Amino acid sequence: MQIRLFVNQPLAVGATVCLPEDQRHYLRNVLRAQPGAELFVFNGREGEFSAVLSVLNKKEAQIQICRVLRGQPEKRDVRLYFALLKRDCTALVVEKATELGVTKIVPVITQYTSVQRVNVERLRAVAIEACEQCRRLDVPEISEPVALAALLNEQNADEPLLIHLDETGTGHKAEQVFKGVDRAAFLVGPEGGFSESERALIAATPHTVGLDLGERILRAETAAIAALALFMCR
Ligand code: SAH
Repeated sequence: MQIRLFVNQPLAVGATVCLPEDQRHYLRNVLRAQPGAELFVFNGREGEFSAVLSVLNKKEAQIQICRVLRGQPEKRDVRLYFALLKRDCTALVVEKATELGVTKIVPVITQYTSVQRVNVERLRAVAIEACEQCRRLDVPEISEPVALAALLNEQNADEPLLIHLDETGTGHKAEQVFKGVDRAAFLVGPEGGFSESERALIAATPHTVGLDLGERILRAETAAIAALALFMCR
């Protein structure tokens, strides 16, 4: 089994890197790795390296960086603004958005959001774990929650096209919405949808377009994953 680790420290060929306690514990007590084991490490900034586990005991874990395997990929600007969902659904959205290549995730507070608070550090750990699993080398930025009105107030022609997922049938088909679009921000409503006043605010915001994912009413997490998959895999 390949061991992939996000190591939030400078990485360079020939360097010796001391791992934090949680990763020492994970390697020794969960994976039962042995000194000499090969790892793949990345820090989200300098690409991917092969490394060897040079020290692993009850007190410390050290790796020797061996060689560069992959350079750091060009960063795209694809964002997900999603209304906070119930705990597990929020984590699911962050995990799947990370796998699908989103570069910034912004939890949004809307009128019908069922949850007002979220543990952002936990979401960042979910994203890092998803990067390790899917071999992604850049870690998406996850911000603190923002109110929908504040988010829309920042929208302008210099920002990525804001594509709001619209289940009312007034949105446009993906092929039409995505044509010629490279930078995009997807806005997904909560389980209860956007309120009428929020829909009016979105409609009045410049550089936005509604995306219709068909006549079925999808769960917010389904809609977010479907829209991102359509956009990122075309
Ligand atoms: N208002 C809906 C529930 C909201 S679904 C109802 O009538 O029950 C949660 C969110 O998922 C919506 O706010 C929308 O952003 C997105 N969504 C769901 N189905 C969609 C579809 N068919 N097309 C586009 N977006 C959709």
